[in-house]
Amino acid sequence: MPPRIVVIGSINMDIVIHAERMPREGETVIGSNLRFFPGGKGANQAVAAARLGAETHMVGRVGKDSFGQTLRAGLLQNGVNCDHVIVDEKAASGTALIVINPGGNNSILVAPGASQNLVRDDVDGAADLIRQANAVLMQFEIPLETVAYAADLARRHGILTILDAGPAKKCSTDLLRKVDVLSPNEMEAEALVGLPISDLSSAKVAAERFMKMGVKMVVLKLGEKGCLVAAKEATTHYPAFRVSPVDTTAAGDAFTAALGVELAKGEPLDQAARFANAAGALSTLKPGAQPSMPTREEVLGFLRERGAM
Ligand code: ADP
Repeated sequence: MPPRIVVIGSINMDIVIHAERMPREGETVIGSNLRFFPGGKGANQAVAAARLGAETHMVGRVGKDSFGQTLRAGLLQNGVNCDHVIVDEKAASGTALIVINPGGNNSILVAPGASQNLVRDDVDGAADLIRQANAVLMQFEIPLETVAYAADLARRHGILTILDAGPAKKCSTDLLRKVDVLSPNEMEAEALVGLPISDLSSAKVAAERFMKMGVKMVVLKLGEKGCLVAAKEATTHYPAFRVSPVDTTAAGDAFTAALGVELAKGEPLDQAARFANAAGALSTLKPGAQPSMPTREEVLGFLRERGAM
């Protein structure tokens, strides 16, 4: 039986333009190569979980607009159940304007739109689904109050909760303690513990800080350094797989989804961390967010090729 994953989070359209630079106030800059990519951390993780073989359900909101229709259709095409994707009559679909400069760096402006209207009632509407899940995945692109409410509901039913702490923002320690697994990247961890992370030893100090705050388990995503897993018993570093990335967008989403799917299946933490490192590494080899999410076969093939299983 595949594990059942419920993702409660954002569904966005990413509008990407390449340009020499960002316009200054009052100025128009001509860009090129306009593209539309389905995105949003919630939807990215749902697509990743589905490709990794989980029965995946999305709880979120889109606007009553063409982006909303496209985003929903994209999720369905990837095998994500959208029975709990609500069409918001009053807000536009979440949208990100992304400008990529010639150096390949991004400047991003996000209007969360409908995702910002995801409320307790929406979580209550999916309560039966959440009760029957093996794991619930959440991120910070919906109201934190909704995240806390969903975490409490899942916890009351003994369902594993995984919180991806992106995008970087501060939140109450109380919320961080509610979840079973907290998974921030370096910048997000910095925002939460107030310590700069530049290498493995500063990452270990940050992980200790999380444990002192009462977080049950933290999985720090460290980009090309892999991940650091801190639990009560031990803190373990899992080095990244060496790859030549073409686009690291949403590597964190591939990683968190993979970790969630493996833990939901009941796999040991060690194995889940390696599997997640492989999924993260593979996602950097293709451009875009959702199109770059690897399948289970791809991850298993990669692990075999690298002699890691
Ligand atoms: P985010 O995308 O949230 O910034 P990271 O950059 O830390 O998160 O990437 C998430 C995971 O993806 C890492 O923990 C690692 O497993 C994998 N990964 C990311 N970048 C690379 C890379 N350059 N080489 C190998 N693996 C990578």
